[in-house]
Amino acid sequence: MTDELSITLKTLTPLWTGGVDQSADRLHETGLLGSLRWWYEALVRGLGGYACDPTEHACQFDEEKYRKSKATNERDRLREAGVCDGCQLFGCTGWTRKFRLSVSPDGQKLLGDQQNVLIPSGRKHQTRRGERAGGWFVFSESRIGEIAFELTSLRDADLRPIHTILALISRYASLGAKGASGYGVIQADIKPDLAWIQGFGNQPPARNSTLPDFRDFFFARFKFQEPTGNTNWWQNINGIRQAVNGQLDDHSSPNPLRQAKKELEQMKQQGILPIAPAIRNWLRYHWQHNLNPNLALDDIFGDARSAIGSKILVSYAYCVNSAWEFRIWGWLPCSIFNQNNRDTFLQSLCAAFGQNALWKFVFGESQITPTLTEWHALTCDQTDGKAYLNALFGGAK
Ligand SMILES: [Zn+2]
Repeated sequence: MTDELSITLKTLTPLWTGGVDQSADRLHETGLLGSLRWWYEALVRGLGGYACDPTEHACQFDEEKYRKSKATNERDRLREAGVCDGCQLFGCTGWTRKFRLSVSPDGQKLLGDQQNVLIPSGRKHQTRRGERAGGWFVFSESRIGEIAFELTSLRDADLRPIHTILALISRYASLGAKGASGYGVIQADIKPDLAWIQGFGNQPPARNSTLPDFRDFFFARFKFQEPTGNTNWWQNINGIRQAVNGQLDDHSSPNPLRQAKKELEQMKQQGILPIAPAIRNWLRYHWQHNLNPNLALDDIFGDARSAIGSKILVSYAYCVNSAWEFRIWGWLPCSIFNQNNRDTFLQSLCAAFGQNALWKFVFGESQITPTLTEWHALTCDQTDGKAYLNALFGGAK
């Protein structure tokens, strides 16, 4: 039982939490809570608990059922009263969240009062206002720096799950919004206490959820060294090169592309390089994977038409102890894809990370070949969520 948590998070890539009104004037607790809740639900589903789908039908606390329940523990009592494991910790109608989160200060703006920077994809789109460059924005108002995270239990809440989630995010994933575009990698010094997962049953649940279940996730981490004798190496990175010059490879400069050398230099000095667009670009448009077309890349990389929501997320590169790192992780549900396809796809994805073609596309003439330092995934016939979580933390108990 842990009922207080006070921890300083350091951003490794900028954090974006745009709230309900999407304003970026500060960090929004709701955005951070949403992220923590999302992971908690994924953990609960993979461990054999039940988490409702709040976007479909959230739980509602039934006080009478709670009073009349003969369950011997609080968790089962609340379940009988209509409150799922996710809502028990994070709240629902009639049942308030069990802890308070406050964050301070708000960090600083990544690029001060400068404009957003477009990292172009190389593709152009015809619009009524003429030709426009496709790509991904680096938001100048995203936040960097140190952020103090204070969690206080309000009703005997066990905060160890939140510890675990922050540790998981810090080691493999990202916090806040726009993780698919590279934001939200944080560093937090947490050794998670996983004893709380023993509260779930010993019979692993089937891998049939169409909602996020952490057993359907893979996690990869990479490392590379700066090449010696070439201080401008980072300007060869695909997307960054074009943004530094303000020109696509055909020398055109469609809006909103503009020359942003100064801003990118500033980011490089802060140890942040937006390489996610280049990696996504290669995987989406250049990768010869020869896979069954039923496994549609639009579903995997996200497409406005797709409601499946399966996703591959790629972080920016960030500098830690004078080496560069980045991570790629994603959700590929066994329930949605044909199982063999899904497992074969993951295998070939892992193999692609060891191929020169990808890194040549991303790093250009700098000839950088990152090392895959960690790879974690379960095949669809593996169901033991507890073992997976233990493995993700290097066997920590
Ligand atoms: Zn619920």
